Amino acid sequence: MSTKATVEKLVSLCKRRGLVFQSSEIYGGIGGFWDYGPLGVELKNNIKQAWWKAVVQERDDVVGQDAAIVMNPTVWRASGHLDTFADPMVDCKECKKRFRADALVGEVAASAHGHEAAAEVTRCPECGGELTEPRMFNLMFKTYVGAVEDDASVAYLRPETAQGIFVNFANVLTATRRKLPLGIAQIGKAFRNEITPGNFIFRDREFDQMEIEYFVKPGTDEQWHQHWVEERYNWYLRLGMRKENVRVRQLDRDELAHYAKDTYEVEYLFPMGWSELEGIANRTDFDLRRHAEFSGRDLEYFDEETGEHIVPFVIEPSAGVDRLFMAFLMDAYDEEEVRGETRVILRLHKDLAPIKVAVLPLSRQEKLVPPAREVWALVRKHWMSQYDDAQSIGRRYRRQDEVGTPLCVTVDFDTLEDQAVTIRERDSMEQVRVPIAGLVAALRERLEE
Ligand SMILES: [Zn+2]
Repeated sequence: MSTKATVEKLVSLCKRRGLVFQSSEIYGGIGGFWDYGPLGVELKNNIKQAWWKAVVQERDDVVGQDAAIVMNPTVWRASGHLDTFADPMVDCKECKKRFRADALVGEVAASAHGHEAAAEVTRCPECGGELTEPRMFNLMFKTYVGAVEDDASVAYLRPETAQGIFVNFANVLTATRRKLPLGIAQIGKAFRNEITPGNFIFRDREFDQMEIEYFVKPGTDEQWHQHWVEERYNWYLRLGMRKENVRVRQLDRDELAHYAKDTYEVEYLFPMGWSELEGIANRTDFDLRRHAEFSGRDLEYFDEETGEHIVPFVIEPSAGVDRLFMAFLMDAYDEEEVRGETRVILRLHKDLAPIKVAVLPLSRQEKLVPPAREVWALVRKHWMSQYDDAQSIGRRYRRQDEVGTPLCVTVDFDTLEDQAVTIRERDSMEQVRVPIAGLVAALRERLEE
């Protein structure tokens, strides 16, 4: 992370500038849910678009889909979520607070520098009260489909988008007439009833996932796994994340999910330490075999080269949009001294910046309004833009800097004479004069090349 960024500064900036709000704040909020404001929705969409462009549009071996959130509940029996998607939890008998038993162990282990002592956490970290024995708690949100609330109508909000891809594997294969290797990508909401959500938008109960299931022939899985680890790591760097803040870590055997042969994580150095942005797992043929078994359908692939029916292996890059949002902001946050004042600046990559261009008349002087409005009309056909005429020009530049707007266009009194405007660049603060007739081309050169 940027050494100047703290979670407190970020939360405050996000609220003040309309990036992220606490969900249902006027009613006191609700834990683990967040709303994205006018600038937040832009940044979030830009992250999704940058991902989609890299993994679907620019590749010749990945297609997209968008499955429903509520699925036939048998999906979750086949996937193992009904049986194993649970965390051990303990309750404090005194203050009634609930904790994840494994997180509690982690916390104490970190402070005690060893896990022998940590295995015996029996006291509440908040009040010192006695804790209950750990009990398993399923993280899926339950609901009912239809008018009757009985066992037959139980359904779940999906805890991951992945299963919507596995159950459509045969449909997509037939519809696209593709051969392996074939990836299916999807962006969508997922829900987990986390016992202890926290760290701002890092661990939410409702979040957006960006997942690819990349189906390959068995035997080529390890090589494709390496390919995707590199691809995904480089994507973060291409979007401007600082190399010293991003790393790839291979999980230890005992950290692997039940279906995984091997997993890597792309991790970011958050204030709370290195934490997962994205998991890249080799899920083997686990999911397709289970769904074939539970559905009775043939989910095999006919390999024309060998004349064999095979069950593909799957490489799964799976990222959480909300925690990427937080990491990109953390990484872009900077403060610098400019003429005795602190300039807060988000050095966001131009593809991610919520607003690409701000149009600023030098003052609210009547004569400047029509040309400034005309310039804005010209710009906003092409990019997300803002018009701002409140307060001094210096204050307005700062306002754009702190939300990461790469370019400001200033309309001044000379504009009335020379039909030209000034483009001011966020990071260097350099200014260049361009004719209005060539403005769109000049902006395009700076934003798209
Ligand atoms: Zn307690």
